[in-house]
Amino acid sequence: MNNYVTHLECANCGEQYDASRVHGLCVKCQRPLWVRYDLERLRKKFARADLNGRPSSLWRYLELLPVNDPAKIVSLAETVTPLVSTPRLGSAFGVDHLYVKDESRLPTGSFKARGMTMAVTKANEFGIRRVAAPTAGNAGGAMAAYAARAGMEAYVFMPQDTPAINVKECWLAGAKTFRVNGLINDCGRIVGEGKNVKGWFDLSTLKEPYRIEGKKTMGLELAEQFEWELPDVILYPTGGGTGLIGMWKGFAELEQLGWLNSPRKPRMISCQSEGCAPIATAYARGERFAPKFENAATIASGVRVPVAVGDFMILDAVRASGGTAVAVPEDRIAPWMKKSISLEGLAICPETAVCLGALEMLLARGEIKPHERIVVFNTGAAQKYPEAVQEEIPLLDISKPIDWAKI
Ligand SMILES: *Cc1c(COP(=O)(O)O)cnc(C)c1O
Repeated sequence: MNNYVTHLECANCGEQYDASRVHGLCVKCQRPLWVRYDLERLRKKFARADLNGRPSSLWRYLELLPVNDPAKIVSLAETVTPLVSTPRLGSAFGVDHLYVKDESRLPTGSFKARGMTMAVTKANEFGIRRVAAPTAGNAGGAMAAYAARAGMEAYVFMPQDTPAINVKECWLAGAKTFRVNGLINDCGRIVGEGKNVKGWFDLSTLKEPYRIEGKKTMGLELAEQFEWELPDVILYPTGGGTGLIGMWKGFAELEQLGWLNSPRKPRMISCQSEGCAPIATAYARGERFAPKFENAATIASGVRVPVAVGDFMILDAVRASGGTAVAVPEDRIAPWMKKSISLEGLAICPETAVCLGALEMLLARGEIKPHERIVVFNTGAAQKYPEAVQEEIPLLDISKPIDWAKI
């Protein structure tokens, strides 16, 4: 046993739950649960130097993770993702220190692997053999892969127009895969209703406590990569918000462990497309809860989440950090995707292009300064989005002489 978890705690009403049992949302108020650790005890037992020599994977932070039995870990080798300095892209914005944390290197090509390795590991510890989730795309692919790895049965429900690659990767991994003629919240309702009929465990974003803990490791890695001095600004493409919420929680835990060299924390910028911007809208109105965003449509499928169960957790973190939440015009996404990939060769996904659009906006407004240390998360691999490229690529006819003027 290497577990420092004390209990689970409702993020809204504070109700506490026994972490040795399976829980979903808070039964009192239907809001998400935090995993709480005995950080006082951990502070005495776990030091930064303990990380030396540990494998370069998110499991290097084991004491800060909810695992009881390391033998039950369900892993596909979740590498620590590189923090890549991007001077050519930085120059395009006129900023001095722009970094991309490239999550596209993770299993299944997106950072959903972080949350799913943790949630499926916990499901495995609890002896759960059947899991289900609604997905905008990548979460389904990751769940299907980890469920396959654990020998579990997986059920995935996704909007009809989810990128074809996401549908096929789920099917290939053996998940029972369904397309639904609705949005992700409609898929979520199906997963909720099926719980009693099919007896599956609901791995929906924030409807169980452990995906946040997996995504938290983005913040832990970032802190370590910046040698325990966090950057000034983080731009995060926000769907359900798990990563933003998780990183903010991670920073607080590192602070309590005394691992941060400076108390300064990054301003968290929640980035959405104008095609689906519930969080940016609620932020602009000064609200803590975000009503459903009607007619959600964006090519950045990972942020097409019209209702976020953790809306107040996202908005609380954004405000506490001194950050902001912005919506970027949909027509900025494809150009920033092309521009960033052609400048740096990194596989920047449409969701990350949303963040680049936000960076452009916030620099223009003076809310981000050119000398600041800016981190953008590349949450998925561009290769998973062939639909985002509409360009007609020239075809050469080899039966004719090549017209070199056209090459
Ligand atoms: C899921 C997803 C997001 C949004 O992540 P949340 O933590 O749910 O807000 C962003 N980008 C990609 C590529 C995704 O798959």
